[in-house]
Amino acid sequence: MQSVNPKNGEVLNSYEEDTPDEVERKLRRAAATFPLWRTTPLEERAAKMRRAAALLRDGSETYAKLMTDEMGKPIQQARSEVEKCAWVCDYYADEAGGFLAPQHVATDGSDSFVRFDPLGVVLAVMPWNFPFWQVFRFAAPGLMAGNVGLLKHASNVPGCALAIEELFTRAGFPQGAFTSLLVGASAVEGLIRDPRVAAATLTGSEPAGRSVASIAGSEIKPTVLELGGSDAFVVLSDADVEPAMDAAITARTINSGQSCIAAKRFIVSPPHYDRFVEGVAERLAKLRTGDPLDEATDVGPLARPDLVADLHAQVEASVRDGARLVLGGAVPEGPGSFYPPTLLVDCTREVEAFRDETFGPVLAVAPAADDDEAIGIANDSGFGLGASVWTSAERGKELASRIESGHVAVNGIVKSDPRLPFGGIKRSGYGRELSRYGMLEFVNIKSVWVA
Ligand code: NAP
Repeated sequence: MQSVNPKNGEVLNSYEEDTPDEVERKLRRAAATFPLWRTTPLEERAAKMRRAAALLRDGSETYAKLMTDEMGKPIQQARSEVEKCAWVCDYYADEAGGFLAPQHVATDGSDSFVRFDPLGVVLAVMPWNFPFWQVFRFAAPGLMAGNVGLLKHASNVPGCALAIEELFTRAGFPQGAFTSLLVGASAVEGLIRDPRVAAATLTGSEPAGRSVASIAGSEIKPTVLELGGSDAFVVLSDADVEPAMDAAITARTINSGQSCIAAKRFIVSPPHYDRFVEGVAERLAKLRTGDPLDEATDVGPLARPDLVADLHAQVEASVRDGARLVLGGAVPEGPGSFYPPTLLVDCTREVEAFRDETFGPVLAVAPAADDDEAIGIANDSGFGLGASVWTSAERGKELASRIESGHVAVNGIVKSDPRLPFGGIKRSGYGRELSRYGMLEFVNIKSVWVA
C-alpha cells in the first residue's frame, strides 16, 4: 500500500499489506480483548477516551499534516477535523453513562428494564475523505459502548489508519480494543463472514455499501451504511440571498468538494436566480486553488488522479445534457490531482450533475418555476442524505417534514454534530451515527423481566 501526495504525485510512504496470518492474529487478539474491555468500568473507558481527545489536541499539527499529505485537504480544514475528533471523544466520554444507563419500565413483573450491552468486534470500513473524523465518529461511541473496533481504512490513507491505532494505544486502550488492518477491499467479505465479527459499518460508495450489506445480510449481521449524497441547497422566494450565496460556496467547496454532505444541487426560485448565478460565480472565481499546506488555500487537489478524470467526465456529460458552463471545467496542466472550481448553470433534473453525485468543487444550479417546484426538484433524487433550505425560520421548520433526507438545515449548511444523529435515507444508506441513536446501533438492546 502506498501513500501518494495528491498535490504532486510523490510517493510518501509504502506499507506492507497485512498477510492472512497477520489478519488472523489481529482478529484473534480483538476477539480476546472484547470480554476484558466490555467489563472495564465505564469511568475507566471514559478516562481513556478523554486521554485520546487530549492526545489529538496535543498532536493536532502532526495529524493535520498527515491528512493533508495523504489526501490533500487544506491544512486549516485538517486542523478543524482533528479538533472535531477530540470533541466527539469528549462528548461520548461525558454522555455514554447516561446513554447506556438501564431504563426501568413498569410491567407485570416485579422489575423490568432495558439494558444496553455491547455486541463484540465491530468492523468499520472507512473512506479517505475525512480520514480521521469518519473513524472517530465510529470509534468513540463504539468503544464507549464496550465494543472493540477493527478498522479497514481506505487504501490511500494507510498512514492515518496506523496513526489512529497508535493514538488509541497511547491513550491507554488495551491492545486489541482498536486495530487497524492494512488490507484491500477484497478482504472485507472474509472479515464480515468471520464468526468473531459481530457487525459492520461502512462509509463509502454505493457499490461498496451494496456489497457489505448483502454479505452481512447473508450472515444475519447488523450494518450501518453511510453512502453517497447529492444534497439539495434550496433557495426559496423569501430567502435572504446574500448569506445564502456565501454559504453555498462553503457548502460546495469544503474538503475541496469531496464531502458526502456537501451541497451538490443548487435549486433557486425565480426572484433570486440571476443574482444567485452572478453572485456564486464571483465568489467561486475568488477561491484560491493550490498547495493544501498553504494557509491561504481554499481548494486543494482531489485525493487521487482517477477522481479528477471521473469528475471531469461528469462535467462534460452535464454540458452535453444541456447545462451551461460558466466557470472552470478544464483539467489544468501540470502535476497534482487538481480540478478548478466549476460552475454549471441552467441545469435540469436530467443533467448528469443532478442525477448523480459529483465529488469535487462543481457547483450545479437549476432554476425552479416556484417554491413548490423547488422542493419537488430537491426530492427528485435517489439520494437522501442532507438538504439545506433558505427561507424564513418558521417556514423552514414546516418544510422540513416534506424534505426527503436524514438532515435538514434551515438557513445554514449541513454539517455533522456529535449531539445530532447523522445518516441518510434512500440510496444514501441506513442507520445513524452520532448522538445516542448512533451509539445504540451497535448494542444489544436487551429486555430483562423479573417475576
Ligand atoms: P469507496 O470506494 O466505497 O471506499 C470506501 C471504503 O470502502 C474504502 O475503505 C474501500 O477500500 C472500501 N471498499 C470499496 N469497495 C468495496 C467493496 N466492494 N466491498 C467492501 N469494501 C469496499 O468510497 P470512496 O469513493 O473512496 O468514498 C467516497 C464515497 O463515500 C462517496 O460516495 C461519498 O459520498 C461517500 N461518503 C459518505 C459519507 C456518509 O457519511 N454518508 C461520508 C463520507 C463519504 P479501498 O480503499 O481499499 O478500495
